[in-house]
Amino acid sequence: MRLSRYFLPVLKETPADAQIASHRLMLRAGMIRQQAAGIYSWLPMGFKVLRRLEQIVHEEQQRAGHIPLLMPTLQPADLWLESGRYDAYGKELLRIRDRHDRDMLYGPTNEEMITDIFRGYVGSYKALPLTLYHIQWKFRDEVRPRFGVMRGREFLMKDGYNFDLTYEDAMHAYNRHMVSYLRTYERMGLKAIPMRADSGPIGGDDTHEFLVLADTGESEVFYDRAVTDLTLGRREIDWNDRAQLEAIKAEWTTPYARTDETHDEALYTQIPEDRRVKGRGIEVGQIFYFGTKYSEPMGAVVTDESGARVPVHMGSHGIGVSRLVGALIEANHDDKGIIWPESVAPFGAGIVNMKPGDAAVDATCGELYQALTAAGVDPLLDDRDERAGAKFATMELIGLPWRITVGPRGLAEGKVELTCRRTGETEALSPQAAASKLA
Ligand code: ATP
Ligand code: MG
Ligand code: MG
Ligand code: MG
Repeated sequence: MRLSRYFLPVLKETPADAQIASHRLMLRAGMIRQQAAGIYSWLPMGFKVLRRLEQIVHEEQQRAGHIPLLMPTLQPADLWLESGRYDAYGKELLRIRDRHDRDMLYGPTNEEMITDIFRGYVGSYKALPLTLYHIQWKFRDEVRPRFGVMRGREFLMKDGYNFDLTYEDAMHAYNRHMVSYLRTYERMGLKAIPMRADSGPIGGDDTHEFLVLADTGESEVFYDRAVTDLTLGRREIDWNDRAQLEAIKAEWTTPYARTDETHDEALYTQIPEDRRVKGRGIEVGQIFYFGTKYSEPMGAVVTDESGARVPVHMGSHGIGVSRLVGALIEANHDDKGIIWPESVAPFGAGIVNMKPGDAAVDATCGELYQALTAAGVDPLLDDRDERAGAKFATMELIGLPWRITVGPRGLAEGKVELTCRRTGETEALSPQAAASKLA
């Protein structure tokens, strides 16, 4: 993309009402525009990042054997009357009436609808196990939408639902979600720690929230420092190997890590003092086993091997895709702007033309642009007629991992500059060498 032809409305001033870094930077970098409280347009560069996160989520869900579909944003109220949540959900639920006076709602989550789909087609245990998911906009009429996309009213969520014959099978699905989530966040360059969460009136301990540590997070967290050293890395995962997934879950959930909702001071003080950490975190996902909570009232039953009709065991598992954009920036920025991890950057590299109109500089920029595009790096070429300082400030603000600076003085010696956004390190090298370093 050539910046002169792109739509990147960067702001010079820091927006006054944005309280946290990610919100400020997303506005300043022209990623989002607020249209109403907690409702945003995703401008081209913000949209690009959102799509990259979605892509990673899709890949990791499908790797774990989960199947994508797409449910609508609007739902009939009838389904929610069946589950009993229409009244229970309260004011967070946006209720809508259509021209025929039918009660509808903008889905805050999809347990009812997915259960309805399941019961419409599946009647035998032979179709199990089954996990269906989608990535779709949700609406929750939050009392206090704030921090930009971090707590929006309309937000993008991946929500997946497992259907299993037995508790044991459903726990295997739970573990698949835990491991696939660990992989997902790691691929995004994020450390998200599974923490035991509150399962509410249902009881049991089969729910975990994934938290990204950040001072601006809304959750208070307590953990054993040891948990932050864990990484999944490139280990080979056999998604059918129950023992392997159980062992990975144990690895992550044995060190103490809880949110304030489930925090247990007595257990916490058993951790050696130098490893105890109290901090804050951003909830970027949650997995939940809830058994037959929806299958029973809504009649999602299958015949088992003996011919008996039994309600299926279910769980639901969410990732806050749009919130992750904010969380990524909270975890990756400095006073100049965003520092994207390579795997989620909107463009792989920026090329700064220091003197548009100079034949040699223009030609080298064009060659670099082509070489990087061919290599799949997806460069952003700043070909605008602007001061060098302004161009560098824009590149630093939008946080592309690499910048190649092309100017007449360097070119006279056959050199361009390659700068790493994260470390600030710069080296002078030939255009070819710079291109092959990024390819
Ligand atoms: P929170 O505690 O932050 O209100 P939640 O527990 O109500 O979130 P879940 O029902 O677990 O949310 O939804 C799954 C994921 O969707 C959350 O882990 C979070 O990442 C994301 N999410 C929830 N509410 C919002 C929101 N208002 N704006 C953006 N993302 C959200
Ligand atoms: Mg909530
Ligand atoms: Mg929560
Ligand atoms: Mg939650």
